[in-house]
Amino acid sequence: MHLARFPRRRYTPHATPIERLDNLSRHLGGPEIWIKRDDLLGLTSGGNKTRKLEFLVADALAQGADTLITVGAVQSNHCRLTLAAAVKEGLKCRLVLEQRVPGSYDAHASGNNFLFDLLGVEKVTVVEGGADLMGAMQKVAEELKAEGRKGYIIPGGGSNPLGALGYVACAEEILTQTFDMGLKLDHVVVASGSAGTHSGLLVGLEGNNARLPLTGINVRRPRAEQEGNVHKLAVETAEFLGVEAPSRQTVVALDDWVGPGYSIPTAEMTEAVRLLARTEGVLLDPVYTGKAFAGLLGLVERGVFGKNERVLFVHTGGSPALYAYQQVLQSA
Ligand SMILES: *Cc1c(COP(=O)(O)O)cnc(C)c1O
Repeated sequence: MHLARFPRRRYTPHATPIERLDNLSRHLGGPEIWIKRDDLLGLTSGGNKTRKLEFLVADALAQGADTLITVGAVQSNHCRLTLAAAVKEGLKCRLVLEQRVPGSYDAHASGNNFLFDLLGVEKVTVVEGGADLMGAMQKVAEELKAEGRKGYIIPGGGSNPLGALGYVACAEEILTQTFDMGLKLDHVVVASGSAGTHSGLLVGLEGNNARLPLTGINVRRPRAEQEGNVHKLAVETAEFLGVEAPSRQTVVALDDWVGPGYSIPTAEMTEAVRLLARTEGVLLDPVYTGKAFAGLLGLVERGVFGKNERVLFVHTGGSPALYAYQQVLQSA
């Protein structure tokens, strides 16, 4: 797809591993479960936002910005990684944190919130759930402008067509790697949130005619709404790249594992986090990959995959948030 025409910073000096989860696959009695270790991407503690930031921060630097501005939930991995990229590039970073769960902001909370402080965030603004987030970020940009500085606004999750290129690149990385490994996959499963990861993977897979079905597992929204969001961003990303847009039918974003709402723990999430930790020593997270992996396990239980098929779970990271959920995840 000639992605080299887009300016890019490099935050991971290698492809992330694709590993077979032997213990878990044996425990389940099939299918074969494989994992793409995007939890091992570069910048502080890795995760999917690192790939998006490679393109977004290159654009910020090209525009002469001195400060990155972004938004996320109170335990946002995206905010942690945007701040980490700013540190690495010698930029400042200001965060807008949205209390999607009322009263959820705790200045002294552990997990990503602790890392915001440790990594030296310049300023945090807390807003209520459903607030005008772009407006709040524009206000921060105006404050900077008044001081003769220049902010660069990154949307929530880094999910715009430029950020989604990170996951178009990941789809190509998966296709190259699996070809090298002689590994024929049958399905790919990924968490679906602000949609950049899901959309980017879809554009990358469809644009390469991979014929590899991709299933998103929602962490926040009802199915129809999320599928609409993913398709919209996929169309915009394809247009930006000059490739054919994926059809609406290729977008699958299941909402059966959201539970009571975004970031609210579920029994299936807890079980999935424990199972992967105890069979493979791999850490999921409570908000995204724990629910997405619970979805994968649920699909296995429903018999959606053949016993001898190979299913790739794209591990999008997030383990620092575990430390803010110790009460929920610790054995009784
Ligand atoms: C942001 C995030 C996701 C969801 O990715 P989107 O591109 O926002 O859909 C999944 N997993 C983790 C750990 C994340 O931080």
